[in-house]
This record gives sequence, structure tokens and C-alpha cells, in this order.
Amino acid sequence: MLHFCKETRMNAKQCFCGEPAKHQWYVCADGVQRIICTKCDITLNGLVLDFMGDPEIHEKMEKYREKMHSQEILEKSNAT
Ligand SMILES: [Zn+2]
Repeated sequence: MLHFCKETRMNAKQCFCGEPAKHQWYVCADGVQRIICTKCDITLNGLVLDFMGDPEIHEKMEKYREKMHSQEILEKSNAT
């Protein structure tokens, strides 16, 4: 199992949870490029770091959350 995340511009498409998708994840086991929203992307990143027993998970996730949220705010202010 391997997760790969890359940021994209996919505002028109939806994540499986119904939110607008903004990231792509490739899960080798199902061979499909999945599109997901920021909230699910953050959750998945946390799950993977937790699974790997990363000792810096809390610091990394805090930084990642901040980065993602400031990007969202920027995107929203650019859109209006
Ligand atoms: Zn989602």
C-alpha cells in the first residue's frame, strides 16, 4: 500500500465525502487516481504518519494543517 498526494486544481470535482476535491491520492491497491478534499487529505496524511509511527507526527500535522488552511483562505480571497 502506498499513498501519494499531490496538490491540484480540481475545484469542479467532488471528494467521496461530497466536498470539493483539491488533492489527488493514488492508492496502489486499487489502481485509481482518487480525488479528495483538503479535510480528507489532512486526515489521510495523519493516518499514514501514525501508521508509520512517525515520532514527529504532531509537529508535522500541525504544520500541514496550518499550510492547508492558509492556502484555502488564500484561494477563497482570490476567488471573490
Ligand atoms: Zn473529503
